[in-house]
Amino acid sequence: MSDALYQSPISPGRSWYEDSLIRPRWPQLSGSISCDVLVVGGGFTGVSAAAHLAMAGVDAVLLEGARLGDGASGRNGGQMGTGQRLWPEELEASFGYERAKALFDIAEDAKQHLVDFTNRHGIEADLQAGQLSVAHKRRFLKPYQEHAEILATRFNYDKVSFHDRAGMADLLGSDCYYGGLRDSGTYHLNPLKLLTGTAAVAGSAGARLFEQTPVTALTEQGGRIVAQTPYGTVTAARVLVATNAHGGDIDAIAASHVMPIRSFIVATEPLAEPHRIIPGNESVDDSRFVVRYFRKSPDNCLLFGGREAYMPETGNIGATILKQIRDIYPHLKDVGFTHAWGGSVGITMTRMPYVSATRSGITYIGGFSGHGVMLSNFFGRLYAETVTGGPNRLQVLQDLDIPAFPGGQWLRTPLLFLAMTWFALRDRI
Ligand SMILES: Cc1cc2nc3c(=O)[nH]c(=O)nc-3n(C[C@H](O)[C@H](O)[C@H](O)COP(=O)(O)OP(=O)(O)OC[C@H]3O[C@@H](n4cnc5c(N)ncnc54)[C@H](O)[C@@H]3O)c2cc1C
Repeated sequence: MSDALYQSPISPGRSWYEDSLIRPRWPQLSGSISCDVLVVGGGFTGVSAAAHLAMAGVDAVLLEGARLGDGASGRNGGQMGTGQRLWPEELEASFGYERAKALFDIAEDAKQHLVDFTNRHGIEADLQAGQLSVAHKRRFLKPYQEHAEILATRFNYDKVSFHDRAGMADLLGSDCYYGGLRDSGTYHLNPLKLLTGTAAVAGSAGARLFEQTPVTALTEQGGRIVAQTPYGTVTAARVLVATNAHGGDIDAIAASHVMPIRSFIVATEPLAEPHRIIPGNESVDDSRFVVRYFRKSPDNCLLFGGREAYMPETGNIGATILKQIRDIYPHLKDVGFTHAWGGSVGITMTRMPYVSATRSGITYIGGFSGHGVMLSNFFGRLYAETVTGGPNRLQVLQDLDIPAFPGGQWLRTPLLFLAMTWFALRDRI
């Protein structure tokens, strides 16, 4: 199939990102091979791990069931929010200041890592500074204002400023939000460019990357781990399972901790009056549970995400999102779309990433709960550092002891559907 027609087999729709670059192809596995470390899953976590393992001289193989970036990593909103998905003051209430600060610092290191990594390897990922977080209800304003103060006074992060309704209207080009925060210390980017650039680094450093090679089982044989695929086997001393929301079949324990929800994005045609929308080119996310997130592309299309689904259906992606765009920018009521697509977000019970050594030699990293652009890339690097004898900086994540979703294999999905639908309804109250 020609690349212009390619559709991810695991995520709905062709993304705008796929038409923003020429996407390299990687071979399919053929035969049986062995290596030191096998990485399963070619999203940010897996590709970054493969790159850092190979750069450290480790013989690494990566197997991707579809194409690199066909999961969440090549199709997301591209926003790098500061900190973890939970605010540090929320983490402090649960775990105390020291652990909350350690988790905040790891996220700041993740941000810096991406800036340095893209610079060092010349990866053109359309990195652009600035993020606006906006309140869709008046009641969220005070927590936002306090959050900015707490970040500055307790977490040494003074790049967030509070803006009232009029100030935010100037930044957004819309007065439909009550106000919010501007974070000048974070970024947004083209995720598929980052992913393909990182894969190129991995390949040049000697990692062997294979696409369209799904792992069907991981078994232990004589102290080594054997990955079965339809096209051959890979035998390794260690395995990183980086399958995120897609990996149910090969690791049941991880699957009980990370569940998929669908999120959808559209790209509009280039805007006729781009200066009327987010003139500072920040990315935007709002205070809804079903968060609306949007930004302009370098060629002035609006990339707008907003609809979620908790069961594996797709529906009419564009119609719902067009209504959401009109709420914010009424002058775009007739805007056309060029792309509408979705992806699976891996979420956990606590919305913190799930890091676990489930069986000897097998590590699982995933469940970034919609906050993985910078964390997943960095955690891939941290995994490589642990393998090569560096400090285990992932321990602070492992210690979070994320619980499994309740309901067992059969009830988990319906229970999640009910819980998410309830929270989504609260957005309107
Ligand atoms: C629509 C959408 C918008 C988002 N927006 C943002 C955002 O703005 N900011 C942010 O921080 N985060 C966002 N996220 C989340 C972010 O994209 C993820 O946290 C991150 O990409 C996770 O990377 P990953 O490598 O862990 O997983 P993935 O990118 O999902 O990769 C997992 C890979 O494993 C492969 N795989 C699964 N099973 C197997 C198998 N058995 N054998 C071989 N391969 C297998 C899959 O094919 C897939 O390619 C968004 C996600 C979505 C879907």
